[in-house]
Amino acid sequence: MKSNEISRRHFISTAAAATAGVAISGISSPVFANSKDTSDKLALLGGKSVRGDKKWQKWPQWNAEKFDPKMKEVMSSLTWSRSKNVAEFEKKWAEMHGSKHCLSTVNGTNALSAAWMQSNIGPGDEVICSPYTFSASIFGILYKGAMPVFADIDPTTFQIDPAQIRKKITPRTKGILPVHICGYPSDMPAIMKIAREHNLFVVEDACQAHLAEIGGKKVGTWGNAGCFSFQASKNLPIGEGGGILTDNTEYYDRLYSYHNFGYASGSVSGQISSISALILANKIRMAEYQAVIGLCQMEKLEEQHKIRNENGAYLNEKLAAYPGVSPVKLHKGATAASYYIYAMVYNEDKMDGLPRKRFIEALNAEGVPVATGYPNDPLYGQPMLKEVFASDIYKKCYSASELDFEKYKQKNHCPSLIKTYNSALWIWNGGLMLGTKSDMDDIINAVDKIHNNVAKLK
Ligand SMILES: *Cc1c(COP(=O)(O)O)cnc(C)c1O
Repeated sequence: MKSNEISRRHFISTAAAATAGVAISGISSPVFANSKDTSDKLALLGGKSVRGDKKWQKWPQWNAEKFDPKMKEVMSSLTWSRSKNVAEFEKKWAEMHGSKHCLSTVNGTNALSAAWMQSNIGPGDEVICSPYTFSASIFGILYKGAMPVFADIDPTTFQIDPAQIRKKITPRTKGILPVHICGYPSDMPAIMKIAREHNLFVVEDACQAHLAEIGGKKVGTWGNAGCFSFQASKNLPIGEGGGILTDNTEYYDRLYSYHNFGYASGSVSGQISSISALILANKIRMAEYQAVIGLCQMEKLEEQHKIRNENGAYLNEKLAAYPGVSPVKLHKGATAASYYIYAMVYNEDKMDGLPRKRFIEALNAEGVPVATGYPNDPLYGQPMLKEVFASDIYKKCYSASELDFEKYKQKNHCPSLIKTYNSALWIWNGGLMLGTKSDMDDIINAVDKIHNNVAKLK
């Protein structure tokens, strides 16, 4: 894979920064080199914005000339339900990852739920989860009557911290849910080591992490299952769609049966009748026209992934000059991120006390789409869990003390997560990371401009 070569370590700085007129001269005496043609006055205070009327690349993208005929073909064929295009999409996604099987689904949420539904976890079991995510990651764990237990993240990588996972292991632990949040890889070698030691089932939530990799091995291929989303904002956008990767053929057979009314599939067999349900199931099949969209998008994915990583490495290198905005770190061994979101940590103290909210307003005004990311509303405190804990099934399986929501929240409290909620910066716009070097320089220039004018913003 060519993409193996793209990493922070392999990134070679080019002269692009100098030619674009960017001067990162360190924090003590920064120079805003574009001051000749761009007003140094902040856009938020009435100056000219760094971006002017330049547009970021749109997302999703569709080459109508090339792809419309393929859509026309599938529509005219009148075969709209699962058939050869879905099978081809699965084959190609599995191949691109070096995985034995891929099963496509209607979306990422159902990919995750199916992966847990066909796991061996059940009532009374605990699954250690990353808390830096949202409800879709854990629905399946709750469908099975199991208990999500949250292990804190490393605030420099945003990923679940293997040392914190170890602290949460009990005799009841049966699984781990790492979430490769923002498209940066979680520390899978360390997580799989823990999983092997304790015989745990691992489902990777790779819904944001298309083609991210660790030591050349793609995320989604480390655990027992790796789940992807092809929702419109994601790096392989179908509109709605999902996929599960696995190397275990028996598990794959069960997943296939599950996604198709529980009908016979491979080792899930035993009845003659084709409408005899063999396992408790669902119906979450991808449609043919979804698969065609996915196949079209897949044609450009590796090339786009390379550009995103070049731009990511460039931003990581240049923004490191500003202690107020530290780029999220790729942990040791990570060889590529998906850069679904370009993430940073805001440090108010190193920005002369400028509140994050004000920094975001100023950066938005310069034309850079930045936001806080997930709000300060931890998954372990959300009303859904309170309702689940009040259900008859949970009351039959857990003690009153285990279902005491206040106690649960305290026990699962993750300080680094809260710190991250309050300090994260997400540049989130599907097409932005596919921009040119000059687009990236605009981001750096905008940060530089704000940095130089902090006093005026307060
Ligand atoms: C998008 C996403 C999902 C859900 O995928 P859908 O296709 O939207 O159902 C789950 N987990 C994470 C981390 C996601 O970003």
